[in-house]
Parts: sequence; C-alpha cells; structure tokens
Amino acid sequence: MIEASCHCGAIRIAISERPKRLTSCNCSLCHRLGTLWAYYRPDQVTITHGAGIAVPYIQGDRTLKMFHCPTCGCTTHWEAMDQEADRMAVNARLMDPIEIATIPIRRFDGALTWTYLD
Ligand SMILES: [Zn+2]
Repeated sequence: MIEASCHCGAIRIAISERPKRLTSCNCSLCHRLGTLWAYYRPDQVTITHGAGIAVPYIQGDRTLKMFHCPTCGCTTHWEAMDQEADRMAVNARLMDPIEIATIPIRRFDGALTWTYLD
C-alpha cells in the first residue's frame, strides 16, 4: 500500500502497490504540469478523501480526464473517458519522495512518436 496526497491534503489516494516504474511524458499537457505517472488498473486505486471535489480537465482528443485539487492546484491523477478502460494513472509527485526515490523513471515521447525514448 502506498499513499498519494495533494499539497493541502484535501485529495488523498490509496494505491494497492508501490509503482515498479514511473513515466515522464513530454506531451503538451504533462510537460507543463511536471507530472510523473504511475499507471494502475482502476481497481488498485481508491480516492480516500476528496473524490467529489477533484476538478477534471478534458483536452483535445477527449481520451482522458486530468484531475487537480481546487484548493492547492496539484494534479492528482487521470482517468480514461472510456468507462471500460483498465488503465488510469496517479501523479507520483504526490507520493512520499523517499518512497519513490529509487524507482526507475522512463521517458515517454507523448509529444511526437508515442514511444518510450529509453
Ligand atoms: Zn489540495
């Protein structure tokens, strides 16, 4: 079990297992947000506080909702627009830095090729 919390603590997320790797994406949105993604199945993730207040942002191709805290502004997670999707992601920047310090980070080229660069 690992936890993620926005800066003010209004949104808290409990995840069944520590991520094995993290992804840094350079798409137009992730690049600006500075997020570090840990991917999970939705059944591995529980929003324990603030699920109702998380603000969604839906961009261009409408494939996912990017959520942030309305109080402190931290990007918390994304969910697929497709209800059947088996993938979502939590922003690992909201996890304890010591917990994730040794987890490898992969660079994903979401801007152009949609492939990992390493
Ligand atoms: Zn907050």
